[in-house]
Amino acid sequence: MVILGLVFGSFVNVVIYRLPKGKSIVSPGSRCPRCDKDISWYDNIPLVSFLLLKGRCRYCKVKISSRYFVVELITGLIFLALYMKFGLTANLPIYILFFLSLLIMSFIDIDTYLISDVIVLPGIVLGVILSSAFPGMHYNLTKMGSFIYSIVGMLVGGGILVFLAIIGKLLFKKEAMGGGDIKLLAMIGAFLGWKCVFISIFFASLLGTVISFILIGLKKKKIDDYVPFGPYLGLGAVVSLFYKGMYFLGFFIN
Ligand SMILES: [Zn+2]
Repeated sequence: MVILGLVFGSFVNVVIYRLPKGKSIVSPGSRCPRCDKDISWYDNIPLVSFLLLKGRCRYCKVKISSRYFVVELITGLIFLALYMKFGLTANLPIYILFFLSLLIMSFIDIDTYLISDVIVLPGIVLGVILSSAFPGMHYNLTKMGSFIYSIVGMLVGGGILVFLAIIGKLLFKKEAMGGGDIKLLAMIGAFLGWKCVFISIFFASLLGTVISFILIGLKKKKIDDYVPFGPYLGLGAVVSLFYKGMYFLGFFIN
């Protein structure tokens, strides 16, 4: 499972790098961004190659961002965690897909300050379709019930940020939330249901505050820097995913 995750992590890196540039994600094969030499399969083994080459290109020795390594590692570990949580059920590939789209969305948001419609719009539709086909995603409701649960989740997710955006505009006279965050939370609601929407926002705010303070402390960020909220919502959604079938603050989550 970890190895499968590493392979997917490698693919995620390619998507993060190429999708915002509008390049094909299937061809050509990987190339060094500086010397443009093709990277052979033996230099493209997740985690291992990075360590063996000490994070540098074999030919021109340019430093390769350690982010490639981190993304592969995270993907490997989350694959394992999801497998331990959901076992070999229909939910496993569904939540893997969900996690991968959140991961890709997060890093593209960090790079470009944009939440990619190419990911969240199909994500919303897919969340609703999968919920209708696999009621195991929500309490084992009937297919109709699961479909409605997903739609409600989508509306709550999208609606709550629209609501906050209006309040924010009235109170502070400035845009607090981007349209991308609204679509992202609608996707989270469609996949996980309305309860997880609230848990996602809770953990996104909590982790957002903690991580921002750490980054400011490390002088990596200034207090008035723009902070993309998408990655924190993604992080919150992944945390809330693990609350499925468990109690959170006395409420049963599913
Ligand atoms: Zn090179």
